[in-house]
Amino acid sequence: MKSYAYGFPRLGKRREFKKSIEDFWESKITKEQLASLLNAVEEERICFYKEYVDNFPIGEFTYYDNVFDTALIFGVYNFTNFETYFDCARGKNALELRKYFDTNYHYLVPSIKNNFEFKLSWNKPLLYFKTFFSFKDNPVFLIGPYTFLKLSKLNEDFDKAFDRLCISYKKLFDELKNNNIHSIHLEEPAFCLDVTKKEVKSIARNYKKMIPAGLNVNLITYYESVDFLPHLYELPLSGIGLDFIAGRENLDILEKNGFPKDKKLICGIVDARNPLRSNIEEKVKFLETIKRAAGLNDESIVVSNSSPLIHLPVTLDNENNLNDNIKSKISFAKERLYEINLITQFREGKTKEARSWGSKMPAELKAASPKKEFNTLSLPQKVFANRKKIQQKILNLPLFPVTTIGSFPQDKNLRKTRFDFVKGNISLHDYDNFIRGRIFNFIEKQEEIGLDVLTHGEFERTDMVEFFAKTLRGFITTQNGWVISYGTRAYRPPIISERIKRENPLTIKETFYAQSIAPKPVKGILTGPITILAWSYNLRNDPLYTICFELAQAINCEAKNLAENEIKIIQIDEPAIKEFAPLKNRKRDFYYSWAVRSFNIASHLAPEVQVHTHLCYSEFSGIINWINKMNFDVLTIEAAREGAKILDSFKNSKFNRAIGPGVWDIHSKYPADDSIIRDVLNRSIKIFGAKNVWINPDCGLKTRKYEEVEISLKLMVKIAKIYRSKFKKCMV
Ligand code: GLN
Ligand code: ZN
Repeated sequence: MKSYAYGFPRLGKRREFKKSIEDFWESKITKEQLASLLNAVEEERICFYKEYVDNFPIGEFTYYDNVFDTALIFGVYNFTNFETYFDCARGKNALELRKYFDTNYHYLVPSIKNNFEFKLSWNKPLLYFKTFFSFKDNPVFLIGPYTFLKLSKLNEDFDKAFDRLCISYKKLFDELKNNNIHSIHLEEPAFCLDVTKKEVKSIARNYKKMIPAGLNVNLITYYESVDFLPHLYELPLSGIGLDFIAGRENLDILEKNGFPKDKKLICGIVDARNPLRSNIEEKVKFLETIKRAAGLNDESIVVSNSSPLIHLPVTLDNENNLNDNIKSKISFAKERLYEINLITQFREGKTKEARSWGSKMPAELKAASPKKEFNTLSLPQKVFANRKKIQQKILNLPLFPVTTIGSFPQDKNLRKTRFDFVKGNISLHDYDNFIRGRIFNFIEKQEEIGLDVLTHGEFERTDMVEFFAKTLRGFITTQNGWVISYGTRAYRPPIISERIKRENPLTIKETFYAQSIAPKPVKGILTGPITILAWSYNLRNDPLYTICFELAQAINCEAKNLAENEIKIIQIDEPAIKEFAPLKNRKRDFYYSWAVRSFNIASHLAPEVQVHTHLCYSEFSGIINWINKMNFDVLTIEAAREGAKILDSFKNSKFNRAIGPGVWDIHSKYPADDSIIRDVLNRSIKIFGAKNVWINPDCGLKTRKYEEVEISLKLMVKIAKIYRSKFKKCMV
């Protein structure tokens, strides 16, 4: 039995990846220095593999993102030098960022022109093969053609573009083979989506043509099961990698169909998405079950991680503040490699180490069982009209109320003060005063600009999930548990370890202070239960919905407490509700039933309190019925892009609440634009009626510069006034 691992984080033990690239951006180091620093990080990464596993791919490294690199390999963009590279990644010509499947990693979305002729223009795998020639027997890394195209923006028939792309892949494979490369690590996570029959045929046809004889291709899938797995059996592959953690159904498919004797089965049994430590004996048993189902013997089995290890921090070694009990329940990426090693060595006598590793763990969660949908606790639609009347009496808002999504720009001084506070150089009292000062100024600013509903600015929050996790009971946070979310940007997912409870207030202090000095309503801003769950790790054995209901109770407690403290509007942000949905269509209704129920538990408030929610994305078509089941009074969404096309999905949806379509795309580099604002407003008024439309930016303003925020908000207020006089008669 051999071991194999892939996707080990590129961040470096001390985030050297981030530091050196950002230093290069700020011209603190030269290209040459950057290349040599990153080379060192890459060598260290390879050392981790070498120490624990038999084999691993070469060339997984990227300066920013591997989907983007694939676009460069096939000439969608040109790789001329570092400057042009980073310009596409984050400069003036930056590509759009999108979540990679159901993970929290964002990739750069390539845009492919109609009838684009793909051409092999940058042989990145060959380059890395030459650089790391001492690993000439290792496979070289590539993203597969189906996945690459599925992740790209495409305006033509998929099959046609796919055929053309595969011709270029064939050229690449030929060239690699002619340069003495004999094996490829080919990642096709998109095989785990709902692949149509037509696409399965086209995959089979192209794969047969694309792979030259004598080249060993290991096809790696992850994040779910492959419904059409038996169709891969006839393809010229030497191994197939399956995810047995997120894709338990892979086991059923093997039981039904067996597995071909001429291929290796690369078994992803060590969890790469969540750090709950593996029980090695259980993993060994599970491997036996897989072997039996597949009808294979030890020689055909390879032990591996369930998906790229990039979703875990580099190592537990850097955590000095965690207590031993918690530490013994966690494995990060390096520890996962050790586990893979233990599993393969179990029968060769590493039984003692195996038994002491994670032996205190409870049995692992069985494949999710109850599939009966939950009652969503949705209020009858007619209730919302009544709530609106009650709230309007209290709030007395004008037509087209103008507001923001919550956060306000955070500058260097703020970040430094927060850092000093965390380090203990500033007392809590001084820190609180500093934050109060910020809130005070911000409330003044908002009044001056003329907003109708204010916020406190979220100055005390670094990250909308970690901030809540630090105060809620049941969470632990790490010192160095960084994972990349995009480019060089990293975040530290908090870890759920026990039953969640709100024992102390989370946001009362700041929100209440803001309201006490503001003559207008201040909106309390909370992160919703699904988003907290989606962006955290989890060491518990309970089903996700159980944990989500607990989180919902905690957030509801906070919301009620806000309401008791004079806060009349409460916004519950749920940017993750859609991305957290299962990849397979057939599993989504069950998920949404508990996700919506969780939101409704959190937002359960007296009709006097106006509930807002912010869903931070712009694609709704499939889930509008679920959104209608969420109990909120006002919805804010992204709308400023692509001519507010998103609003069309509401047209026949019986949506009867108020809506704040984002009129300023805060992810773009430009301030708000007069004609876009009017355009979004006009469309919204047609669909929802003038009485139901709010005006606000697309998302939080945390990452913007103060000057553009001020100009943009002032413009919104100005246009709101014009529209108010235009639609005066609606007031009555
Ligand atoms: N309230 C948050 C903010 O304004 C929302 C962030 C988000 O949608 N991701 O920053
Ligand atoms: Zn948002």
